[in-house]
Amino acid sequence: MARTCVLIPGDGIGPEVCDAVVRVLDAAGADIAWDRRQAGVAAIEAGDAEVLPAATCDAIRRHRVALKGPCTTPIGEGFSSVNVALRKELELYAAVRPVRNLPGVASRFEGVDLVIVRENTEGLYSGIENVITEGVVTSLKVATERACRRIARFALDYAQKRGRKRVTAFHKANIMKKSDGLFLACAREVFAGSDVAYDERIIDAGCMKLVQDPSTFDVILCENLYGDVVSDLCAGLVGGLGVTPGANIGDEAALFEAVHGSAPDIAGRDLANPLALLMSAVMMLNHLAERERDARYRDAAARIRGAYDAALRAGEKTRDVGGALGTRAFADAVIERVRGSSS
Ligand code: NAD
Repeated sequence: MARTCVLIPGDGIGPEVCDAVVRVLDAAGADIAWDRRQAGVAAIEAGDAEVLPAATCDAIRRHRVALKGPCTTPIGEGFSSVNVALRKELELYAAVRPVRNLPGVASRFEGVDLVIVRENTEGLYSGIENVITEGVVTSLKVATERACRRIARFALDYAQKRGRKRVTAFHKANIMKKSDGLFLACAREVFAGSDVAYDERIIDAGCMKLVQDPSTFDVILCENLYGDVVSDLCAGLVGGLGVTPGANIGDEAALFEAVHGSAPDIAGRDLANPLALLMSAVMMLNHLAERERDARYRDAAARIRGAYDAALRAGEKTRDVGGALGTRAFADAVIERVRGSSS
C-alpha cells in the first residue's frame, strides 16, 4: 500500500516545482500517496483564515513526513513567516542542507561536499521584537541549553551515521559571549571524547574561508540566523538556489523543502529549476528508507539521483544553471531516464 506523505505546494514557483517533483517520484515508482495541504498566501487564497492552517500541522503530525514548496513572507510588515512557524510548531529543530557539486553544473569550485546543520527553533528567529521608545527597537536573540545541546547532538549523530569526519561550529561568541557562548559550551560538551573531530570558527572568518576554499569544510554547525545566511552563501558556491535541497528534522516529524524561496520574479513562467525540491524529495525517500527500514525508497531515491545526474551531464538543464529547458521539460528529461533505469 502506498505510504501517505503531506504535500504543501506553497506560493510563487512552489506549485510548479511540486508538480514536476511529484511526476518524477511517480515515474520512479516511489509509491507515495500525497495528502495535499495548504500553507502561506495559497492558504488564504483557498479560503483559510490563517496562513498556517491547523489542519496542515495536524496532517504533518499524523503522517510524520512532508514535502513543501516555498511560502512567501512579506518584508518588514504583514504576517510572520509560515516557514519559521511550521518549524517551531512541529519542533523541527534541525535543518540539514547538503551542498555539493553536480555534474554539468558550472561553479567556481570543484570538490565541494559539505553539509550545514542549522538550529531551527530559536536565536533571532524567536520573533521577540519590541519598540522601546520611538526610534528604538530591540530584537531578542534567545539561546537555551536544551536547544543548543540538542542541535549539537544531532550534528554529532548525523556525522557518525554518514561517515563525516569533522564538524565546525560557526559563531560570534567573541561579541555575543552569552548566547553564542552557550551554543559553543554545549557543542564542546557534546563532542568531547567523540570520534568526530570538532573545531570552531568565528563566522566572519569562516565565511571568508568558505569562499576561498569550501572543500576544506565537512559539516558546519550554526545557530539559526547564521545557518540561514551561510546556506545561501554555500548554494552560490555550487550553482545557486536551484540546486540546494534541505530537510527540517524533529523527533516526531520531518519536512523536506529546498533552500530557495517562492521566487516571485519567475513564478508561473515555467522558468524555475525543480531540482532543489527534487533533491529534497530524494532526501525524503532516504529518510523513509532509514526510518521505516524499507529498501524500496532507497532504490527509488538512487534511481532519481542517477537520472538527474545523467540529464545534467547531457546538458539537459534549466536556465539558472546554464541550460535552456523549462521546469516541465527538465522534469521530462529526468523522467525519461528514470524510466530507462531498472528498479
Ligand atoms: P528566492 O529564493 O525566492 O529568490 C532569490 C533568487 O533566486 C531570485 O532571483 C529567484 O528567481 C532565484 N531562484 C530561487 N529559486 C529558484 C529556482 N528554483 N530556480 C531558478 N531560480 C530560482 O528569495 P527571495 O526573493 O529573497 O524571497 C522570495 C520569497 O520567498 C520571500 O517572501 C521569502 O520570505 C520567501 N522565502 C521562503 C522560503 C521557504 O519557504 N522556505 C525560503 C526563503 C525565502
